[in-house]
Amino acid sequence: MNSVLDLQEMKNNLRLLNERISLACSSCGRSVNDVTLIWVSKFHPQEAVDTAYAIGAREFGENRVQEAIEKFSQKKDDVRCHIIGPVQSNKLKKAALVADVIHSMDSLESLEKLNRYSAELNKVLDVLIQVNTSEEDTKSGLQMADAKAFLESLPAHSHLRYRGLMSIGKNTDLAEDSRAGFSFLRALRDEFVNRDSRFSHFTELSMGMTGDLEVAIEEGATMIRVGTALFGSRQY
Ligand SMILES: *Cc1c(COP(=O)(O)O)cnc(C)c1O
Repeated sequence: MNSVLDLQEMKNNLRLLNERISLACSSCGRSVNDVTLIWVSKFHPQEAVDTAYAIGAREFGENRVQEAIEKFSQKKDDVRCHIIGPVQSNKLKKAALVADVIHSMDSLESLEKLNRYSAELNKVLDVLIQVNTSEEDTKSGLQMADAKAFLESLPAHSHLRYRGLMSIGKNTDLAEDSRAGFSFLRALRDEFVNRDSRFSHFTELSMGMTGDLEVAIEEGATMIRVGTALFGSRQY
C-alpha cells in the first residue's frame, strides 16, 4: 500500500507543481487558466482522493475502469472523472457510467458501443482520441500515420462529443524526447478543430505528465495528467 500524503504534504506538492506550470506558461506566453490539471489518483486510495479534494482538486484521472468505479461512482457533483487508460470492450458500459471524459479512445467499434451506452444513460460523454505519438509498441492509440484518416472517418454520434486528442510522451528520462510527438498532436488538432460540426468542440490536447509537463505546455497542452508530482510515488 502507498503511504498517503497528509494534507500539508499534498498542499506543498501542489504549490511546487503550480510553480512549474506557471513558469512553463509564462515561458511561452500562455495563461495558466488554459491548462487544466487532472489529478491522476490511480493506485492511490480513497483517502488520497479525499485529501486532494480538500485542497481543491475537482478533476481526477484513473487508468482502470474498475478502480474508477470504486473511487468515483459516488462522487460529488462538482467532481469530474477522467478515464485515461485503454478501455476493453467489455468495460465500456461501466466506463460510460462512471466517466465524464474518456481520453483513450482509438477504435470506431468502441466509439459506437460507447455511444449506445451513453444514450442508455441519457448522457453526452466527452471523448478524446488517443494517438501513439511515442511510437512505442507498449502504448495504445492510433498510429500516427493512420490518425488523419481515422479522424476523417469518425461518425457523428448523438451521445458523444469529440473534444480533442490525447497522447503519452516517450518513456525516457528526457522530456525533450516527447516534444516532436506533442507537436504532431497539436498540428493534428489544429487541422481538425471546427472542420465541420463533428469537430466543433475539438479543442483539447491532453498531454504531459509529471516528467514532461513543461514541454507539453509549451506545445499547447490544454489538459495535463499528473500523478506522481501530486500524490507521491505509486506502488504496483
Ligand atoms: C499514470 C498516468 C499518468 C500520470 O503519470 P505521472 O508520471 O505519475 O504524473 C498520466 N497519464 C496516463 C495515461 C497515465 O497512465
